[in-house]
Amino acid sequence: MRWLYRCPSCDRVYAIEPGRYLCDECGTRNKPGIPLEGVLECVWEKESGELPAGIPLPVEAEYFPPLPVGETPLWQPSRLREALGAPNLYLKDDTCNPSGSYKDRASWLVAAFAHKFGLKEIALASTGNAASSMACVGAAAGLKITVFLPASAPAAKRIQVLQYGAELREVQGTYDQAFDESLAYSAATGVLSRNTAYNPLTIEGKKTASFEIVRDLGTAPDHVFVPTGDGVILAGVIKGFEDLLRLGLTAKMPTFWAAQAEGSSAIARALATGGFEERPSDTLADSISVDVPRNGSFVLAKLRKYGGKGVTVSDEEILAAQRRLSSMSGLFAEPSSACAFACYLKAMPLIPRDESVVVMLTGSGLKDIKNAAKAVGAQLS
Ligand SMILES: [Zn+2]
Repeated sequence: MRWLYRCPSCDRVYAIEPGRYLCDECGTRNKPGIPLEGVLECVWEKESGELPAGIPLPVEAEYFPPLPVGETPLWQPSRLREALGAPNLYLKDDTCNPSGSYKDRASWLVAAFAHKFGLKEIALASTGNAASSMACVGAAAGLKITVFLPASAPAAKRIQVLQYGAELREVQGTYDQAFDESLAYSAATGVLSRNTAYNPLTIEGKKTASFEIVRDLGTAPDHVFVPTGDGVILAGVIKGFEDLLRLGLTAKMPTFWAAQAEGSSAIARALATGGFEERPSDTLADSISVDVPRNGSFVLAKLRKYGGKGVTVSDEEILAAQRRLSSMSGLFAEPSSACAFACYLKAMPLIPRDESVVVMLTGSGLKDIKNAAKAVGAQLS
């Protein structure tokens, strides 16, 4: 199998090698306050007659670090199904990844890439989950991890970073500022960047859940709800289904739903209005709180191509959905994931009862106890 990076805007191709992030041509259009231009995607060519062995990935299996990432369960929540009248509702539980979040899928691939090319350090900005994830995977792989994290990130995610032995650089500002500071660090030092969307492997690594879902269901579901901030998990999930279609492992694409908080809904708004406008983020769902969706342009094009939809909910709806999900299924997910469930509840009237729905739950509820306490009216000591 032959792998390359390809720019979906201009079709230029590049080798997958250290130092390559954006398209040389389209990346020149980047400026502050807009989604990244020139985000590359991984593309593969199969030799004729070659049979796919497992999930096609751009790094060979022997370079992946020794920890169990992915292969997460697909729940069939019978009490929820009954209460909602939704017999084909499934929950993809990525809270049980090693660091408690979906981001491990991307960190795993980036760490394998670093191993293959003999790179010893990875730097990144994060709202919290990508940082704790990269720190976790880096610990298993023996890599130095430097993270740029807003000081406002939930305590559990900061503590995870420190427990895993990564270097924590707190940024007195937003995720967007952390993003810029980490890029400046990588530019000055040559350290591999795992910034989400900027490094195309962060999208590619997130496709693996789609393969698991199709394997478990025997077909693609009719609908997939994905918590969406930067748009990278959504782009990864879509890429997975594109690969599955190409490999003949499914015959259809699901309807993709970009599930967003009202206070951080740039992608849903752009889907409705045609373009991105700058608006400061304001939501308690920290994992999907971004001023500028870095992968916005890339994922918007994909959503348009496949008839994807955007749906938004308030913070109150997120907290109510979080408690409902926990108490009716036994799955305690953080606010970003509860957002995907809340968006599903909102979109239910549009979905025929017999159609299958997968809600992606991407982070553990234990990662943000402050807001979870709010949801149940409890005081933290
Ligand atoms: Zn380009």
